[in-house]
Amino acid sequence: MKHMTRKATRHVNQNEGLIFEKSSERKAAWKLPPLDVPEVDASLLLRESERKDLGNMPEVSEIEIIRHFTRLSTWNYAIDLGMYPLGSCTMKYNPRVNEAVARVEGIANGHPYQPEKISQGALQILKTLSECLIEITGMDAITLQPAAGAHGEMTGLLMVRAYHHSRGEPRKKILIPDSAHGTNPATAAMVDYAVENLKSDSRGMVDVSALAAQMNEDVAALMLTNPNTLGVFEQDIHKIADILHAKGGLLYMDGANMNALVGKARPGDFGVDLMHLNLHKTFSTPHGGGGPGSGPVAIKKILEPFLPKPVVVTNPDGTLGFDYNRPQSVGRVRAFYGNFGMFVRALAYIQANGPEGLRQTTEDAVLNANYIRKGLEGTYDLPYSTPTMHEVVFSDKLQAKEGVRTMDIAKRLIDYGFHPYTTAFPLIVPGAMMIEPTESESVEEMDLFIEAMKSIALEVEEDPQTVRDAPHSTRVSRLDETAAARKPVLRWKPAVK
Ligand SMILES: *Cc1c(COP(=O)(O)O)cnc(C)c1O
Repeated sequence: MKHMTRKATRHVNQNEGLIFEKSSERKAAWKLPPLDVPEVDASLLLRESERKDLGNMPEVSEIEIIRHFTRLSTWNYAIDLGMYPLGSCTMKYNPRVNEAVARVEGIANGHPYQPEKISQGALQILKTLSECLIEITGMDAITLQPAAGAHGEMTGLLMVRAYHHSRGEPRKKILIPDSAHGTNPATAAMVDYAVENLKSDSRGMVDVSALAAQMNEDVAALMLTNPNTLGVFEQDIHKIADILHAKGGLLYMDGANMNALVGKARPGDFGVDLMHLNLHKTFSTPHGGGGPGSGPVAIKKILEPFLPKPVVVTNPDGTLGFDYNRPQSVGRVRAFYGNFGMFVRALAYIQANGPEGLRQTTEDAVLNANYIRKGLEGTYDLPYSTPTMHEVVFSDKLQAKEGVRTMDIAKRLIDYGFHPYTTAFPLIVPGAMMIEPTESESVEEMDLFIEAMKSIALEVEEDPQTVRDAPHSTRVSRLDETAAARKPVLRWKPAVK
């Protein structure tokens, strides 16, 4: 490295200027042939709105642009590079056949303003996907509009509110277990409900007697994740549903963890009144980088009048169309009909697997999580010994004695070639390490992961500072993640010359 010139170090240099300042005067990535048609009357071209000053637009050649973006892409981690064990996020592989189907010309180029009679194929996709998801969840109807899980939660709670209002008994409270994902209380607050916390018991499940004591006619719904964020199935789900229903409340299920249930158990059969799905988790549509996602909400009959509009219906002549005449609807929650490309991919995934394939997927996801659990038991603390479904939650209790916390271990994983696991929740586990391999991973990849985790545990004993300072192999080390989310810099601007 010592003998390299400043220019030659561009691949390793941390100097942002060298990385991003590519511009030099009069370079261009285009070249137009001389004009060989008559020049048009200038006034037709709205000359007055022609931009003369392009500001500080970079002037670069084509290969410089290609190299720049290709280089940036190699600084990222992706499921296409290796295991992405981000618990609760279900970072499964997105089969390429999904992409091939989504790019079929008639599908990819369809426009939402196309008249219904020439959108029959697209409508059929909406209808078929709806039917598949209704069958998988055991519910009665569905809306595909919401753009993500959190948006599905909001749509669901708007329907809950409309339902209680229609019965002349507006309610004030939503119950949420202390193990819940942060979006649950945030959603309830956005929809103007008061949030009441529900304690988990020593098994990591809802404490049924606490629920019975807290349940009253002021509770609109319970928002429950099943299996919950500990990867634990709520075994008392029937009792929980009965307690809610006896006092007129509804059971909302956060379906983000459906990768543990598809083809094995149906929320509609265990008392759930409404739930969202995350197509970008369970149904393999691409995930990460902020979207697009898709968070359909499946419901029981009692909530059907409140579905967002329009709703896909079969016309008397057998064609498909949209019904806008829904007086009790909570309205539209998304432009047009939702993130259509995600529907295509999810449907391709469902149909490619079929019922048996989907069941196998679920079994493999659970098997893989248990393989990791067995591999790391003893090395890391397991706060709940209840059987694991699709993800396993360890804690940093043993390593914290050496002053190494879950975030340090997660960052060190990057040096071993893995994406970190989830550190942020469940809040009931201090120093949580939430690991979800999904069914995508082979036993070889999981063995490498287990080995990496064990190796880090050894480092914690022998050289904890290396772990505390990780990652060492990335371009930038620890970033201010809060600032990155709250004050994102989405556009690089050239230095003013
Ligand atoms: C991912 C997730 C959500 C939120 O879903 P988004 O699609 O990210 O909005 C809600 N609850 C749980 C348990 C989740 O894992």
